[in-house]
Amino acid sequence: MPHRTQPVAVIGAGIAGMVAALELAGHGREVLLLERAPAVGGKIRQVQVGASSSDAGPTVFTLRGVFEEIFRNAGSRLDEHVRTQPLGVLARHAWSATEHLDLHADIERSAAAIEALAGAAEARGYRRFCADARSVYRTLEQPFLHQSHPSLLGLMRSSGFGGLPGLLRLKPFTSLWQALGDYFKDPRLRQLFGRYATYCGSSPWEAPATLMLVPHVEQEGVWQIEGGMQALATGLRALLLARGVRLRCASAVERIRLQAKGRRVAQLELSGGERLDVAAVVVTSDAAALAAGVYGAEVARATTRLPATRRSLSAITWNMHVPTDGFALLRHNVFFSPDYEAEFRALAKRKLPDSPTVYVCAQDREGGQPPAPGAPERLLCLVNAPANGDQHRYSEEEVSRCLQKTLERLHDCGLRLDPAADQRAATTPTDFHGLFPGSGGALYGQATQGWRSSFNRPGARTSVRGLYLAGGSTHPGPGVPMAALSGRHAARCLLQDLGSRKQSPPVAMRGGTSMH
Ligand SMILES: Cc1cc2nc3c(=O)[nH]c(=O)nc-3n(C[C@H](O)[C@H](O)[C@H](O)COP(=O)(O)OP(=O)(O)OC[C@H]3O[C@@H](n4cnc5c(N)ncnc54)[C@H](O)[C@@H]3O)c2cc1C
Repeated sequence: MPHRTQPVAVIGAGIAGMVAALELAGHGREVLLLERAPAVGGKIRQVQVGASSSDAGPTVFTLRGVFEEIFRNAGSRLDEHVRTQPLGVLARHAWSATEHLDLHADIERSAAAIEALAGAAEARGYRRFCADARSVYRTLEQPFLHQSHPSLLGLMRSSGFGGLPGLLRLKPFTSLWQALGDYFKDPRLRQLFGRYATYCGSSPWEAPATLMLVPHVEQEGVWQIEGGMQALATGLRALLLARGVRLRCASAVERIRLQAKGRRVAQLELSGGERLDVAAVVVTSDAAALAAGVYGAEVARATTRLPATRRSLSAITWNMHVPTDGFALLRHNVFFSPDYEAEFRALAKRKLPDSPTVYVCAQDREGGQPPAPGAPERLLCLVNAPANGDQHRYSEEEVSRCLQKTLERLHDCGLRLDPAADQRAATTPTDFHGLFPGSGGALYGQATQGWRSSFNRPGARTSVRGLYLAGGSTHPGPGVPMAALSGRHAARCLLQDLGSRKQSPPVAMRGGTSMH
């Protein structure tokens, strides 16, 4: 048996790792949180361009309640650490210089905007879509999202589905794209709601219709965080240090050593050669890193039962500091490709699309206030890219060609910007692979394709005793709140297996150390 007195380790101080560490410390475990990067946050990171820093990872903050609960359980309050404001307009969408659509927090305002763009029948379709998406979310929330590793059978039994007929109401065998055809005849609206599949790094033609729950999550509320998403990571860091978690940044784990003929976790080896005895470990890097040998051959062999599946999408992003003109940007903006199907055909062939769909986060537009005319503002532009960062090195020429096409797309929709070379910084799939080893640059773990995919995501427990998984590549899936839930699932499984002491009172403790 592992020593109950030995610390438990968490590898990776992204959202999942920080939440897992917090939960474990809250139950009286000694926790060591090891992070290879110089700072916490993982995909929540900032990039410096010229004199300004801005978010280079997630920007859309949803399911705020998940974090309220996490902070509350740790004896604190989210709003003591992070200032949030709900957005009235969730996002502004554009197909050309004259075709624009805002989705509002208020469904009836969105319905009115849809009616103005595409007619009354489409607005009715939208209301039906919202009702059905809400029902999918409500059906899956408890028996799927909040379970550590749900099975199809368990889902049918526990949710009062009424067996198979109830399950079929979720349209698991229909693709999201196909299902959207039941609500929308206008291709622009099908494209808009199909794009939500990319929140899981998937194609709307391959993702199951159950991903309708993603737009519902946004409809429930999108918040902007003062100071950007980084503030959430900083808030969690303060909390876990107060809780006594030992945080070591710039500490990459190079090997997970096993004992009992490869059946149990024993030790971690860090990049400098240091070895640490651990009672158990939660791995929060991409689960694919295990099979890729990032943690050594022994644990790679021992975890071969993890399903090998297709990677989710990667991205090319640019952080920019640039004046904009011609388009009234909001915080979140989407500029659609004129040929969405061609975009996903190219991505499936591991190529960059000719005319990409572009997401633009205008981080300075807090409260919707535009900057002074001609003044530069901070933008994050993102286009989908294949997750081939481990096989293909994106050259400067390729990236600048992609930037050209991205700027053309924005220009065709009315947004003019021309970022100088020293006022922009690109991150490619090669860079993402370097930041998140074993991923190939995939940002959301495995792709969500087909009805089985949601059940194929690795759960918290593995076949090796003392080895647990969490993070956006595991159940319940990618995204900041889902990764947080996965961290909590893994911590709870670990505590259950090791036999936790009763929960410590929810007050801050002294003694947290941070090496950086
Ligand atoms: C560009 C981009 C945009 C996104 N947009 C959104 C959005 O708007 N809204 C949203 O909700 N989600 C979004 N996401 C997804 C979301 O960011 C992720 O799902 C979530 O942050 C994943 O958190 P995580 O803790 O699972 O993984 P990560 O954040 O990847 O954390 C894993 C950590 O493990 C560390 N690590 C890896 N290997 C080792 C090792 N050997 N030793 C020690 N440490 C190691 C890594 O350095 C990293 O810090 C976006 C992601 C990206 C990249």
